[in-house]
Amino acid sequence: MADSDQARWGDVVIEPGEQRAHYLTIAESSSGAGVRLPIYVWRGKQDGPTVCVTAAVHGDEINGTGAIRQLAREQPFSIVAGTLVLVPVVNILGFERHSRYLPDRRDLNRAFPGSSQGSQTARLAGSFFDQVIRRCAYCIDLHTAAVRRTNFPNVRADMTDPAIAAFARAFGAELIVSGQGPKGSLRAAACAEGCAAIILEAGEVWKVEPSAVEYAIRGIRNCLVFLGMVEGEPTEPPYRIEADSTKWVRAQRGGFLEFHVGPGDIVNADDVIATNTSLLGDEINTVAAPQGGVVLGMTTMPSVVPGDPICHIAYARKGTLRKAEKIVEGLGDETLHERARGDLASSMLVTDADAEPNSD
Ligand SMILES: [Zn+2]
Repeated sequence: MADSDQARWGDVVIEPGEQRAHYLTIAESSSGAGVRLPIYVWRGKQDGPTVCVTAAVHGDEINGTGAIRQLAREQPFSIVAGTLVLVPVVNILGFERHSRYLPDRRDLNRAFPGSSQGSQTARLAGSFFDQVIRRCAYCIDLHTAAVRRTNFPNVRADMTDPAIAAFARAFGAELIVSGQGPKGSLRAAACAEGCAAIILEAGEVWKVEPSAVEYAIRGIRNCLVFLGMVEGEPTEPPYRIEADSTKWVRAQRGGFLEFHVGPGDIVNADDVIATNTSLLGDEINTVAAPQGGVVLGMTTMPSVVPGDPICHIAYARKGTLRKAEKIVEGLGDETLHERARGDLASSMLVTDADAEPNSD
C-alpha cells in the first residue's frame, strides 16, 4: 500500500515541491562496496499518490531508461500533487553487463517480491520491493521485447481488476493485452500487494528508439494526468484494442524469411505474413495469420528453424479490428502511430505478399 511518508528515500528527505536525484543502496558487491540504484524523486506541493516508473528490470531493455532520462532532463510537465519516483535501471548489475539477467544467471523479473535471506537475485528484488514498490500506489514498468525480437508499443495489465484496468486505459495505448503477468514478475508481485502495476512493452533490446521513448512519455504523462498529479488533458490514442489472447505464429520449416507485415500492422485471417525461402530464394512455404489481429511483436532474425517464433499476434474482436483498420488508413505519416510502425520495421525486409520475387 502507499506509504503515508513520501519524504524519505534512502537517507535523504525530499520536501513537497522539491525534486532530487539520489541513490538507493540495494545490494553489496564482493569487494564490500554498496550497489547503488540511481533514482529521481519529484514531489508535488499537494498531497497525492506515489507513482513509480521503473525501467531495465531486464538489464538489456533500455528504451525505458532512455525515456526516464529524457523525463528527468527535459521535465516536459510539472508534478503538482503526489510523488513521482523514476528508476531508470532496476537491474543495475545486468545493465552493466548489457544482460537481461543478473550475474547469478537468474531473471530478476521472476524473483519479486524477493527475500532478505535468499539468493543474490532474491535479495536485490526484496530490497528494491521494500524501498520502492511497497511505498507506491501505482507502478509503470517499462520493457522491450527480448533479444532478436521487437514489439509494437503495447500495455499489459490485469484488466479483470477495475483499478488496474482504469490505470491501464489511462495510459492511452492503442493496444492493451490483458493478463496477470508471470509469477515473480514485478508487475504480478506489486499488484498482489495493492500497487496497481502495468507494463509497457516497446521496441527491442540494446537501443533507445525515438518512437518507443515518445510512446512511454506520452503514456506516463497521461497516467499522471489521470491521477491528478499533472495538469492538462490526456492525449487520446487513434484507436483502442483490448486483447485477451495472443499467439506466436511459428516457423514450420527451416529457412530464410522475407516479411510481409511489420510491428503494429493489422492482419486478417489467412493473410500471408512471411515467405520462407532457401538461402538462394527458392520458396519453401508461406506463413499465414491463423486469425485476424494486430502484430504485437516480431522476430528481427530472418533465419529460422522449425518452431522458431515469427510473429506475435494479439487477437481482437472482428468489429473492433475492422474499425481500427479504417482509422489507421486515415492516419498521416507524421502521427506517432505511423512513425512507430515505420521506425520499428526500418531494419527488416518487409515486402508485399503478392510481389513478384526479386530477380537480382
Ligand atoms: Zn522485459
